[in-house]
Amino acid sequence: MIQINEHYLKLQASYLFSDIAKRVNAYQAANPDKKLIRMGIGDVTEPLPAACLEAFHAAIDEMGARTSFRGYGPEQGYDFLRSAIALNEYQSLGCDIAADEIFVSDGAKCDTGNIQEIFGLNNRVAVPDPVYPVYVDTNVMAGRTGTFVQGRYEGLTYLECTPENGYVPALPEGDVDLIYLCFPNNPTGAVATREQLQAWVEYALSRRAIILYDAAYWAFIRDPQIPRSIFEIPGARECAIEFRSFSKNAGFTGTRCAFTVVPKELKAYDGAGEAVLVHKLWNRRHTTKFNGVSYPVQKAAAAIYSDAGRAQVATLIDLYMANAALIRTTMESLGYACVGGDNAPYVWIQTGASSWEFFDRLLQSAGVVCTPGAGFGKCGEGHVRLSAFNSRANVEEALQRIRALLKP
Ligand SMILES: *Cc1c(COP(=O)(O)O)cnc(C)c1O
Repeated sequence: MIQINEHYLKLQASYLFSDIAKRVNAYQAANPDKKLIRMGIGDVTEPLPAACLEAFHAAIDEMGARTSFRGYGPEQGYDFLRSAIALNEYQSLGCDIAADEIFVSDGAKCDTGNIQEIFGLNNRVAVPDPVYPVYVDTNVMAGRTGTFVQGRYEGLTYLECTPENGYVPALPEGDVDLIYLCFPNNPTGAVATREQLQAWVEYALSRRAIILYDAAYWAFIRDPQIPRSIFEIPGARECAIEFRSFSKNAGFTGTRCAFTVVPKELKAYDGAGEAVLVHKLWNRRHTTKFNGVSYPVQKAAAAIYSDAGRAQVATLIDLYMANAALIRTTMESLGYACVGGDNAPYVWIQTGASSWEFFDRLLQSAGVVCTPGAGFGKCGEGHVRLSAFNSRANVEEALQRIRALLKP
């Protein structure tokens, strides 16, 4: 008789987005004439940059001609893209990352979810709270946790991100082996300083732990003092893997292209304490289970690094960050403590009420949809996330309604 992977039964249904949808639908049914503004969106709203689109079209034409048609490509990505990434994202910032340390993929969600597969089941795992749920659920599926008790999985170490620590968690009390960090953070928009990241790298090196660094929002960092990559920190090549994606900077959420950086010196250990190169393991996993991102998509991604592509991506980021600044200054002027919005497209707001109460108030009285922080973990309670992924007109109208509702 066929049996299931019982660890899946421990998973909690994610009610966050379905609960939001239910409340939004009920509101729309009761108020059919009111225009709703969605400020909770974790997806981009602007179309692909023109340079990417042109490269995409040209590559599709190549696929249609016998002389330039391409079948299976290298699983790790075409060299034109891996080299462009290594040069433009790392070497030009003084980070020592080579093209063959870049693994191109169809998403940072997949990569941050799949990476845990190459590590043992007895590793102790630390995740931020609030958290991007992929880190937690994939470890639950693998069997690295106990059951869900009072809002948390047994066996996981939760790194609390609170107003007191500026939403950058302290090092854990006990030992952990696998540490998920995300900066700029989703959902809080908080960033980590060089000193804070240095402390995490030293912690990981001292315990032979590995940091899984999700930098999906690196392109939104404005402050030149804030590291864009964990590999700007000395020692990170021996203890970190970095995940990035073209989803948020260049609007690839529906086009799908991302990459993972695994340095060649990075080691993990077998049961006898012998070192094994993680690059080799990930290469084996990636080439066994993945057949590469489509050629036109990789060509579209590489166009981000052309002069035109660079300028167009900068314009996109400027648009979203102008929205973010408006959101943050408006909420602060109304007396709410906020983080994010300065180096990230999300503003994380302390509501002074439960996150669902605040959500309902914005929905019912302003017709504005936000994301309740409690949906991202215990420490998200008392907060909501407002997203800068929207048109300027929508952001301005939403903020005008919020001002009218919440003005002291
Ligand atoms: C959007 C996002 C990603 C990127 O996911 P893709 O699968 O590349 O679209 C990764 N991590 C976080 C925290 C995100 O918010």
